[in-house]
Amino acid sequence: MSTTTNAPATTDPRPRVLTGDTPTGRLHLGHYVGSIQNRLAMQETHRCFFLIANMHAFTTRPEQPADIRQDTLEIVKDWIACGIDPERSCVVLQTEVPAIAELTWFFAMLLPFNRVMRNPTLKTEIDSKGLGDQYSFGFPMYAVGQCADILAFRPESIPVGEDQVAHIEMCREVARKFNQVYCGVDPHAEDHEHEERGGVFPVPSAMVGKTGRLIGTDGKQKMSKSLGNAIFLSDTPKQVKKKINAMYPGQSRDPDEPGDPDINPVFEYAEVFIEDESFVEDLKARYRKGDGLGDGHVKAHVIEAVNALLEPIRERRASLEGPDGDERVIEIIKDGTARANELAEDTLARAKRAMGLSFFPRSLS
Ligand code: ATP
Ligand code: MG
Repeated sequence: MSTTTNAPATTDPRPRVLTGDTPTGRLHLGHYVGSIQNRLAMQETHRCFFLIANMHAFTTRPEQPADIRQDTLEIVKDWIACGIDPERSCVVLQTEVPAIAELTWFFAMLLPFNRVMRNPTLKTEIDSKGLGDQYSFGFPMYAVGQCADILAFRPESIPVGEDQVAHIEMCREVARKFNQVYCGVDPHAEDHEHEERGGVFPVPSAMVGKTGRLIGTDGKQKMSKSLGNAIFLSDTPKQVKKKINAMYPGQSRDPDEPGDPDINPVFEYAEVFIEDESFVEDLKARYRKGDGLGDGHVKAHVIEAVNALLEPIRERRASLEGPDGDERVIEIIKDGTARANELAEDTLARAKRAMGLSFFPRSLS
């Protein structure tokens, strides 16, 4: 364990990382390969903040507070089961970091409304989640809020899946704009120079995982908690088997007929989850020829690989089930959030100073 583990977040010299998940369901394989693998690696070298974006869960399901509460706990259990270590990393609850909500307001004024609405990730979500024209005012606002989630921690990088890159780009624009408008940073300054030239915020970069967009079991959309096409990290071996066996292989063929692995989403999983690359290449070559290789065979190999990945995760998760597990998770969130608030309050104070808003020191008690 690093000696700087328990250093205050404001003085810890390690570069910082911020990322998180929305509690709209449990975590799935897409999260694992898109972001969690990178988080696990960075725990060793960076000061990590992992945020549960529970405020943002309300943007699409304001009438389901009990589900959001339960999913908040489930997501933290998934993180810990994957190997996130709450001693080394801060698990942060968004609704208990007031600086995030305050920064969201300030940032909303730095982004043209049309710029937010043109964000391609929001457009895709409106479409894929069937939000039509009935989404709340708060829904697009979450993209602005995410800029605040990130910048409150002044991180160097943000491990995310591909769909988040457009959001991170907006966050980078906000950081530059804030630094230019309120800190006098030259508009021609390079991104890496912003802090040394007096900017409050760094211009952080997205770090996309090895698989930036894992396809869902529907073979069409990205795997997503909200779309009913996910294999969850907490699924049982039987559930994994059932979901993969039900996948449409993109074509209808007999085992002796040539097939096209490139249009078969099961092969995408084979490439991601079967470690032996030459074995996967061989499977693909046989599939192209026909060679008696049925879709059931390919699926069986994928099921085995996915279950091998999930087995240790399931075991660790089992120790957190039940009310005792919930209590432990709440303690973890409380501790991480307290440490996160030290840094977020420091950031907010710097931002307010730059904006001429530091009339007197803040005291809320
Ligand atoms: P929702 O359906 O509620 O939007 P989600 O499944 O998209 O949920 P998020 O909480 O929005 O999950 O995303 C958390 C993180 O996981 C983000 O960094 C996102 O880019 C990444 N991620 C989500 N789905 C995938 C995927 N299918 N492949 C790779 N990364 C993913
Ligand atoms: Mg999402």
